[in-house]
Amino acid sequence: MKEKIITKKILKWYDLNKRSLPWRKKVSLEKKQYYTLISEFMLQQTQVTTVIPFFERFIKNLPSINSLAKVNDKKLIKLWEGLGYYSRARNLKKTAKIIISKYNGKIPNNYGDLISLPGIGNYTANAILAIAFNKSYIPLDGNIERVLKRYLYLKKDKEIQKDNLIEKKSIFGISSRASDYAQALMELGAMICKPKNPECSGCPIPKKCKSFKKKDFDLAKITKKNKEKYFILKVYKKNQKYLLVKNTKFNFLKNLSIFPMEELSNPKNFNKNLNFKMSNMNMNIKIQYLKNAKRFSSSYWFDKKKLDNYMLPTFTKKVVKYLEKN
Ligand code: SF4
Repeated sequence: MKEKIITKKILKWYDLNKRSLPWRKKVSLEKKQYYTLISEFMLQQTQVTTVIPFFERFIKNLPSINSLAKVNDKKLIKLWEGLGYYSRARNLKKTAKIIISKYNGKIPNNYGDLISLPGIGNYTANAILAIAFNKSYIPLDGNIERVLKRYLYLKKDKEIQKDNLIEKKSIFGISSRASDYAQALMELGAMICKPKNPECSGCPIPKKCKSFKKKDFDLAKITKKNKEKYFILKVYKKNQKYLLVKNTKFNFLKNLSIFPMEELSNPKNFNKNLNFKMSNMNMNIKIQYLKNAKRFSSSYWFDKKKLDNYMLPTFTKKVVKYLEKN
């Protein structure tokens, strides 16, 4: 396989500059595949620096697909606590169970099987195939997308559509070191071609970079508007304790402890007390203090003084903090 000049330059830069990350450690092939699965799930919506301690704690507690498939939900959520987007943890366990039952404990090494697993979409399948199996895939994450947009100076709406970017990523070429190359491209975006103030002086490919030539590094984006949502959040308090329920009602924070809530559609004169951004929603929250706790299924009284002893999503912790201050 003849590598393009751009490929060689980026790989050479990576060899000299790559960060030492826990999932890049030299380990057996089986462990590498497991580490890639875990890190890619964690990195789906979270930054590398945030993920590192969570990843280390996770693999220390659950060192193999087998242990992940068998872990009880309480421990799993506790290990994920703080990373947010808990559906990733639940999907990870479902995926591990399928890998055990259907693939004899081995992570599949082809796109069709990978994409059929819970929580694995096009990007994650590409990343696993490249990083864990050294296959010639380039997963188009935010970092690689940024390098591509800047290198080719892609600004127009039709140029920055996903389909066009997928087509254009072929300019990076391919390498027999596919695992390193996918990570090299991600690393270049993360370390050098940063969202703000790219460090072009340390970049291995400035000569043919169109943004560098034009000295225009602004990135065009297709803006997605967050959906406005309205909720009444009900606060029942008894002897310094708050009533929480297990959420089986809403698609977000599924099965986690939240205050009882009701969603309103297009309310008039809605005076919010709190605002919270989650996934693609902008949550407008009005707090209602109530006296007689109704019977809620799967509810419990939560002692605010022992906040750290509970497995609570960040959302609920923020509401508690707000209530304590106001
Ligand atoms: S030269 Fe600058 S803008 Fe171009 S790819 Fe490198 S870091 Fe990004």
